Amino acid sequence: MSHSASPGVPFVDLSWQHAPLQTEIMAAVAAVLEQGDFVLGQAVREFEATFAAASGAAYGVGMGCGTDAIALGLQACGIGAGDEVILPANTFVATLIGVMRAGATPVFVDCDPDTALIDLATAEAAITPRTRALLPVHLYGQMVSPRALMALANRHDLLIFEDAAQAHLAEREGYRAGSVGGGAAFSFYPSKNLGALGDGGMFVTQQELIAQTARSLRNYGAVRKYFHTEAGGTNSRLDTLQAAVLSLKLPYLGDWNLSRNSTAGLYDQGLASLAEMGILPIRNDSGRGHIYHLYVVRVTPACPIDRTTLQLALEAAGIQTGIHYPVPCHLQPAFQSLGYQAGAFPQAETLSQEILSLPMYPGMTSTQVDQVVAVMTQAVHQSARQPVDVV
Ligand SMILES: *Cc1c(COP(=O)(O)O)cnc(C)c1O
Repeated sequence: MSHSASPGVPFVDLSWQHAPLQTEIMAAVAAVLEQGDFVLGQAVREFEATFAAASGAAYGVGMGCGTDAIALGLQACGIGAGDEVILPANTFVATLIGVMRAGATPVFVDCDPDTALIDLATAEAAITPRTRALLPVHLYGQMVSPRALMALANRHDLLIFEDAAQAHLAEREGYRAGSVGGGAAFSFYPSKNLGALGDGGMFVTQQELIAQTARSLRNYGAVRKYFHTEAGGTNSRLDTLQAAVLSLKLPYLGDWNLSRNSTAGLYDQGLASLAEMGILPIRNDSGRGHIYHLYVVRVTPACPIDRTTLQLALEAAGIQTGIHYPVPCHLQPAFQSLGYQAGAFPQAETLSQEILSLPMYPGMTSTQVDQVVAVMTQAVHQSARQPVDVV
């Protein structure tokens, strides 16, 4: 334990949600142990049904991780070789990997610098006769406008496939994340808003046939034991143990999301006076529906201090931060064969240089928010006062 006056602020604190549930979690694990149905057991079927319903979808198919939920979900929706899928350049690389694993061709587009969400005007301009799907990412916990998405998809007869890995129970315009598209993917990676004790994911859909195909794809392409109808199948199932734990946590998710949203409100208030100093929070266009998987600010050129210096000042005060994400997908070394150059997506590229994610988790206290705001305010004003070299 540190004995300094200020204990610092962790980026995420999972113990806050797990400590009060420890007895229940152990009991749920013991129940699965007793039952012995470790793969595709009863708890999986129950969690698939409740989580899909909570997300406004008819069917849920538990997978080994969110990446597989994208890849196998797209395959189940009939997307594959020769099909172009439009996605934002500023997303976690798993979105891209999912598209490529489905065999489809990823087509990147730029984002809105204020919300960091996919820019649907540039998406429309990127549509070709081969475009089959739009893959919006509900980034940082805020949904891409369902109305705008559906209008665009309807105009061009495209599938909407939501990457909802950061948006469990997020809402906008009366829609839940997962209920807008023909398919959607969630991740239960431990630090997501709903996290397992390890990896996990789910594909959700409104259509029974698509759900059936996805169930077969995650289970070696088998419709029943030793009878294989899908060549593109693999082994990717949500563990029964993980489903049991997730079922137990799901009833708390609404409150946890509201706690994050309130914390974001405190950050917004606290940081408002730094707007004129060039610190701009990513804009919330969806009010209480934004579930703040991450709270992200931009350190713009108007700020007297650069992002790295600010990050170091926070670190010196014991405050952990992150950058989501420092390199846009189209500039990742592994994907240079896709043929994109620096400069292709100016907003995504600029954002990657400016964004900084501040501590955010349910149970974070207002004192902790004040501490982050105070250190940022001091760091920014201190540099503003530093004498400028006269040439
Ligand atoms: C976490 C995440 C994924 C991948 O989920 P995994 O469970 O880690 O495979 C995909 N897309 C986005 C936007 C994510 O944040």
